[in-house]
Amino acid sequence: MAAQSIPTAFFVGPWDLHRDLACVPDDPAAGSVVLVESVAKGQALPYHRQKLVLVLSALHHFARELEAEGYDVEVVHTPTYGEGIRRHVEARGAERVVALQPREWGLQRSLEAAAESGELGAELDLRPDGGEGGHFLLRREEFEAWAEEQGSSFRMDSFYRFMRQREGWLMDGDEPEGGRWSFDQENRQPPPDESPPDLPRYEPDDLTREIMARVREWPGHWGEVDGFDWPVTREQALAELDHFLELRGEGFGPYQDAMVHGERFLWHSRLSPALNLGLVLPREVVERTVGAYREGRLPLASAEGFVRQIIGWREFLRGLYWRRMPELREANHLQASRLLPAFYWQPERTDMRCLEDSARAVLETGYAHHIQRLMVLGNFALLAGVEPIQLSHWFWAAFVDAYEWVELPNVHGMALYADPSFTTKPYAASGAYIDRMSNYCGDCRYRVKERTGENACPFNSLFWRFIARHRDLVAKNPRMSALLGTWRRWSEEQRQEILEQAEGFLDGLEPAEHGWSFEDDAG
Ligand code: FAD
Ligand code: SF4
Repeated sequence: MAAQSIPTAFFVGPWDLHRDLACVPDDPAAGSVVLVESVAKGQALPYHRQKLVLVLSALHHFARELEAEGYDVEVVHTPTYGEGIRRHVEARGAERVVALQPREWGLQRSLEAAAESGELGAELDLRPDGGEGGHFLLRREEFEAWAEEQGSSFRMDSFYRFMRQREGWLMDGDEPEGGRWSFDQENRQPPPDESPPDLPRYEPDDLTREIMARVREWPGHWGEVDGFDWPVTREQALAELDHFLELRGEGFGPYQDAMVHGERFLWHSRLSPALNLGLVLPREVVERTVGAYREGRLPLASAEGFVRQIIGWREFLRGLYWRRMPELREANHLQASRLLPAFYWQPERTDMRCLEDSARAVLETGYAHHIQRLMVLGNFALLAGVEPIQLSHWFWAAFVDAYEWVELPNVHGMALYADPSFTTKPYAASGAYIDRMSNYCGDCRYRVKERTGENACPFNSLFWRFIARHRDLVAKNPRMSALLGTWRRWSEEQRQEILEQAEGFLDGLEPAEHGWSFEDDAG
C-alpha cells in the first residue's frame, strides 16, 4: 500500500503546538489529529495551577484553530497519552500514528513500547524533534555527532560557536560579528535605578477562563490560578517576542544577571513557556532577534546574549539530556542528601529576603528569572546539600516552563553540580554575589558582610562550609583553588566558628512536610 493511503492519525503533543512541525499535516485531508489531556501526567507532580492552565489552554486553542481550518481534530481526556492515542486510533480506524519524538525520555519509551506490543493499535512513525519539521535546530544524532568529536572539552561555549558558524547568525564572514563570540563581560551589570517597561497583558478569554475554573478546584496542586497572564496562542507569543525586541531587549544584555525585590521579569523575555510549548520556534525567535540587530533596533551585546541562550544553552542542554538519560536523574556527584527545605513551597517560612522573594515569585507566577533560579534558589540548595532529585522535582512542578528535558540538566548540571560533565565549576556563591547583583540585602534581616553571629548572612557560612567540605574538588579547580588559600589563612578557631554557624543554621532548617507524590514517567 502506498504510504499516503494508509489511514493516519497525527498525535500533537501539548508541546508541539506549531504548524511547521511534522506532527501537524499541511493538508487537513491527510488524516485526523489527536491531542491528549493525560490525567496521569497532570497528577504526576503537584504542578503549579498556572502551569496546568497554560498547557491546557494552549492545547485547546491550538485544537480550535485547526478545527476552524477543516481538520478532523479530537481532544481526548484519558488516563495516559498512550491510551488517548489508542482510543482515537480505534475510533478513526487509523493504521499509522505520526508524531514528533516526544520531548521526554519516559514518554518516548512508553509510546515505543505500546507500539511494539500492539497496544497502540497502529504503527508508530516518530519524526525527528529537531531539524526540518522539528522543534529544535539540531536532530538528536547531529548533536551526538558534535559531542563525540569533543572528547573532554564538551562545553557549551564550543557548541555555541559551532551553532553560530553552522547557521551563520551574527557572523561577519567567518568571524563573529563585533569580533567576539560573547559579550558576557558587558552583560553583568547590577540593577539600574530605572524600572523595566510595563509588560503586555493577556487577559484570559472565555476558553482560558473555563480552564481556570476547572483547574482551580483540582486538589493536590500548588499555587493559584488567579493572576494567570501567560501567552496561550501563537499570536500572543509573537506579541510577547515583539514587545521584548522593541522595549526590553536593549536592557536584557546589561541587566540579565540583575535581581530586584518584587520585580518579577525585569528585562527578560519571559518567552520560555511559549517556546517550550511550540507556540514559537527557536529558529523564528533567533531570526527575528538577528533581524532587530541588523535594523539597528537591538544592540549587539543584547542580541548576542539572547541568541546565546537559545542556540547555545537551550539547545545544548536538550542534547545533553538525551545523551545522559536515564542516568542523569540519579546523578549526585557531591552525594547530597538533605530534604528540600519547606520554604521552597512556602516562601513565608524563610526570613532570608533573597530566597523569600525568589520563591514567592514562583508561587505567584510560576516563574523566576535565570539568576534567581541559579544563584539564589539553586545556589542555596547546592550549599545546603539538598538531594538533587528533590530540587529537580520542585522545579519541574513549580515552574510554568519546566519539562524534564530542560529542568533536569539545568538543576542537576548547572545548579547542583550533580552531573559535572559540562560545567567547569560549581555555581557556588556567598552573600557578596547576591549583594552585588541585587537590592535584596539592604533591607534583609541578615547582614551580608558578616560570616558569624546572630545576624550573619547564612549564605556566607554555608559557602565556606561548602569550600571546606569539597576541598579536594576545589583544590583541583584552577578557577576555585584560591578560595582554599583564604580558608586556610583563617585561624583554626575562626574556621571552627564558621562551620558551627553553618551547622547551627542547617539544624534549624525545616524540611518540606507535604504529602505530595512524584512520578517521573507517568503519562
Ligand atoms: P530569558 O532570560 O529571556 O532567556 C531567553 C531564552 O533563552 C529563554 O526563554 C530560554 O528558552 C532560553 N534559555 C536561557 N537559559 C537557558 C538555560 N539555562 N536552559 C535552557 N534554556 C535557556 N528553562 C526552561 O525553559 N525550563 C526550565 O524548566 C528551566 N529550569 C531551570 C532550572 C534552573 C535551576 C536553572 C538555573 C535554569 C532553568 N531554566 C529553565 C533556564 C532559564 O532560567 C529559563 O529558560 C529562563 O529563566 C526563562 O525565562 P525567560 O524566557 O524570561 O528567559
Ligand atoms: Fe540573602 Fe544574605 Fe542578602 Fe539576606 S543578606 S538578602 S540572606 S544574601
